[in-house]
Amino acid sequence: MSSTEKNDLWFATLLGQAPRLFLSILLLFALKLQVLHAQETFHIVLDPGHGGPDFGVNHHGFLEKTLALQVAKKAEELLQNRPGISAVLTRQGDYGLSFDERRNIANSFTNGVFVSLHFGASPDDKIRATKIFILKSSQGFDESARLASLMKEELFSVCSNSEAKTAKFPLTPLIGISIPAILIELDTLTYKDTSNWLDPSMADKASKLIISALDRFIAKRKDAVP
Ligand SMILES: [Zn+2]
Repeated sequence: MSSTEKNDLWFATLLGQAPRLFLSILLLFALKLQVLHAQETFHIVLDPGHGGPDFGVNHHGFLEKTLALQVAKKAEELLQNRPGISAVLTRQGDYGLSFDERRNIANSFTNGVFVSLHFGASPDDKIRATKIFILKSSQGFDESARLASLMKEELFSVCSNSEAKTAKFPLTPLIGISIPAILIELDTLTYKDTSNWLDPSMADKASKLIISALDRFIAKRKDAVP
C-alpha cells in the first residue's frame, strides 16, 4: 500500500468514526455542563434559632426567635434571583423545630454552608458583642473557620464589637452538620439599650452584612476551583 493509499484509508476510517466521535464529544460536553451546574448551585442554609414556644432570649420585649427570623427572611429576600445561589430557611414561621430537623435540612446539601442565627444574653447589662462560633470537631473545620472570620469582620459594625471563636462547649445546633457551619449571636439582647432592633432597618443592615461575608466566602471558593 502506498503512503497516499494509507492516508486515504486513514481518512476514510476517520470519516466513518466521525458521527460516533461527534456524539461522544457532545455527551462529554453535556456531562461537563451537568457537573458545572451542580457545582454552581451553592446552598445557603439559614437557620433562625428557636421558634414556637421556645422564645430563646426574651428581654425588654425583644424575642430572640422573632429577630432571628426577621434577619433570615431579609437575607433570603436579598439572595433571591442570585445566579448559582439558593437560600434555604430551616423555618419560615414561628414554630418549633428540633435540632435533628434542622440538621437534616443542612445535610441534604453537599455544596453550601449552614448559618444558625441567634442572639446572646449576659448577666452584665453593659456587655454587648456579636459572637460567631464554630465547632472544633466539625467537618470542614477550616472552611467554617474562614467563614467565621469573614463574618467577624463584616458584622463588626452591628455593635462595634465582634469575635469569632471555637465553642468550648457542645454547641448543639452545629453538631453533625456536614457542610461548613457557623452559629452567629448577632447581638446581646440583655444589653441596657438594644432599642435599635426596634427599627426594621437593623435586620436589614445585619442581613446585608451577612451576605457580604458569604459573597467573600464564595468568591474565594470559586478561585480555588482549577
Ligand atoms: Zn439562641
